[in-house]
Amino acid sequence: MARSPIKKQLNGVTLLKEYASWVYCTGCKKTIAYLCYITYDKCHLDFECSCGSKGNLYISFTNADYAPNKHPLTIVKNRLCCPTDQSPLITFVEKNLMHYNCHIACASCKNEFFHNK
Ligand SMILES: [Zn+2]
Ligand SMILES: [Zn+2]
Repeated sequence: MARSPIKKQLNGVTLLKEYASWVYCTGCKKTIAYLCYITYDKCHLDFECSCGSKGNLYISFTNADYAPNKHPLTIVKNRLCCPTDQSPLITFVEKNLMHYNCHIACASCKNEFFHNK
């Protein structure tokens, strides 16, 4: 399913595909996350890689403000999933990340979740 982000800002990261798949730190070229293709409508990630590089990623397919949801994401085999409908959203490569903040909105239920380290 082809989609086009209406907003896409990448600083200190590269993506394997246009708006999904592996996310790489440009400082050390290691993977820091894996973003699922069709299940998210917005992702805002700030991070500090274990190599010391900092960066951020902001991709959005919508201008709508989604309801912030305080429920934690459900972890299924390292993948963070929506707690409401179990849509897989993002996986972090924890060993390559010092810390991060992530807001991610589920395309299915239109809730926005927060996860950090
Ligand atoms: Zn790095
Ligand atoms: Zn959902």
